[in-house]
Amino acid sequence: SFILEACAVEFAYPDGTVALQGVNMAIERGKKIAVLGSNGAGKSTLFLHFNGILRPRQGEIRFAGHKVSYKHKDLLELRKRVGIVFQDPDSQLFSASVYQEISFGPLNLGLAEAEVRRRVEQALAATEISHLRDKPTHALSYGQKKRVSLAAILAMEPEVLICDEPTAWLDPRHSRQVMELLDNISDKGTTVILSTHDVELAYDWADYVYVMQQGRVIGQGTPAEIFLDE
Ligand code: ADP
Ligand code: ADP
Repeated sequence: SFILEACAVEFAYPDGTVALQGVNMAIERGKKIAVLGSNGAGKSTLFLHFNGILRPRQGEIRFAGHKVSYKHKDLLELRKRVGIVFQDPDSQLFSASVYQEISFGPLNLGLAEAEVRRRVEQALAATEISHLRDKPTHALSYGQKKRVSLAAILAMEPEVLICDEPTAWLDPRHSRQVMELLDNISDKGTTVILSTHDVELAYDWADYVYVMQQGRVIGQGTPAEIFLDE
């Protein structure tokens, strides 16, 4: 079954920039999806549609077969189920300590204290930063901040994890580590969607790839279909 669908989505920013044109996608539950494209292709704009931060000018987004509703209460529910890790961790981190940062989301859901603690511990372990729990977020390295921002989203236990350029600015070794974390998360059943401009990464990691250019999907298929044809 499809967990997320984009149906003929059109979007333009207030300044008139057309960012998405006739975008169709049908994301299968539990799969690893790469959205491949260069800067400005529309990947981030699409992701912001997947959790309702942006609303299509035309077309629609569906979650688990239902057209997304933009009522406040329905949007909160959608954002609980579709988590986005942004490219720049500094845009996402605002708490004093790592532990506070990761517990913020679960606390906001109104979960019991023991459940909040369980989720934070699990997210710390999954991202291999348990040793950083008491550190001030501003004192962390770039790679560490990336992990904290991922952990904060994981603690929400989303059904879909979306990562905008998870390996941007990371060296090959750190990139591999991040991709291994995402594999582990996928192995537990979470649908993982990422954007990248790295063709090799998409080929090696994804079950299914969408290629975007100038706001359109210009190709899609399994890595073998996309990269070995012709
Ligand atoms: P990508 O994530 O693939 O780099 P984006 O979704 O960020 O692409 O951008 C798609 C297009 O929308 C680009 O032309 C970009 O310049 C434009 N864009 C992105 N954000 C804004 C914004 N806030 N206002 C106006 N144009 C924007
Ligand atoms: P570690 O995880 O061993 O502490 P870092 O987090 O310091 O390593 O670095 C991880 C990667 O991120 C390295 O490739 C480094 O060059 C890069 N990096 C570090 N700081 C920044 C930054 N402010 N902006 C972009 N890239 C950075």
